[in-house]
Amino acid sequence: MDLSVVIPLFNEDESLPELSAWIEKVMLENNFSYEVIFIDDGSNDDSWKVIEELRIQNNHIKGIKFQRNYGKSAALNEGFKAAQGDVIITMDADMQDSPDEIPELRRMIVEDGFDMVSGWKKKRYDNTLTKNIPSKLFNAAARRSSKIKLHDFNCGLKSYKSKVVKSIEIYGEMHRYIPILAKWAGFRKIGEKVVEHRARKYGVTKFGWERFINGFLDLFSIMFVGKFGKRPMHFFGLWGTLCFFAGFIIFSYLTISKFFFDVTGMTQRPIFFVALLVMIIGSQLFLAGFIGELIARNSPERNNYLVEKKSGINQ
Ligand code: UDP
Ligand code: MG
Repeated sequence: MDLSVVIPLFNEDESLPELSAWIEKVMLENNFSYEVIFIDDGSNDDSWKVIEELRIQNNHIKGIKFQRNYGKSAALNEGFKAAQGDVIITMDADMQDSPDEIPELRRMIVEDGFDMVSGWKKKRYDNTLTKNIPSKLFNAAARRSSKIKLHDFNCGLKSYKSKVVKSIEIYGEMHRYIPILAKWAGFRKIGEKVVEHRARKYGVTKFGWERFINGFLDLFSIMFVGKFGKRPMHFFGLWGTLCFFAGFIIFSYLTISKFFFDVTGMTQRPIFFVALLVMIIGSQLFLAGFIGELIARNSPERNNYLVEKKSGINQ
């Protein structure tokens, strides 16, 4: 199968018929063998009913329905598990992404050899203040910390080699950072394509203001887990040692000035409390490192590596 189109959706019953007709048209024009996987993320409108009706007309359409709303990441993860195509395309269900981009997104994977290609909504039809400006900030932060040169990390329209989606696990709100997850999994050829972005035709956005905070917190966790997930002590131990050492030097200075230069009132000097504080923080960090290390050592994931190829090894 050439293509799997994975579409997470939450209360988008109005868009679905139009969207699937458009996808079908593109697939027929290009002669692709394909499947469309709709993941209904616990909608409470008629989305699932619509999916079942669409499936009667076109058996390339498949559906997964969650019992409740788990979020876009969970929906994508289930869709990725089920996808059978050589190339996987993800897109939003709200018709803000255009299916006309699919052939080129696929070509970049198959012919140009990209592991994944991310859409870039260069011209956006969203609210400037609540969406476009925060999105710029947030992309700049993601770009700086991950060193991946993308303008738009969180575009719903993306294409992947099948191997990429089978190697990564998306949970929480990590759908914003799939390029980073792919990079951590060893897929470095990440491309970008300017895509047409359209105004939302039906329904409303499903992400409110809390995504600003959650988005940044998730960026911290993903960078931390990727870098130090398997060796937490290297992070906490370093900062713990530095803090402790700084405290130790200040104490030495205080002690020397008391005994050799007879400066009185050691505990009355503000710097005494600074020394006390950094030493306590230092040992706390050290302890956090040890505990992290114990957790990492007991995790069933501790020796899970992604093996690309084997030669002469049978198991
Ligand atoms: N979505 C989902 N589960 C959720 C929230 C959103 O599957 O909990 C889907 C939604 O139906 C849409 C896509 O994720 O297909 C993108 O959502 P939305 O258009 O609301 O985001 P925006 O374009 O406003 O960033
Ligand atoms: Mg949208």
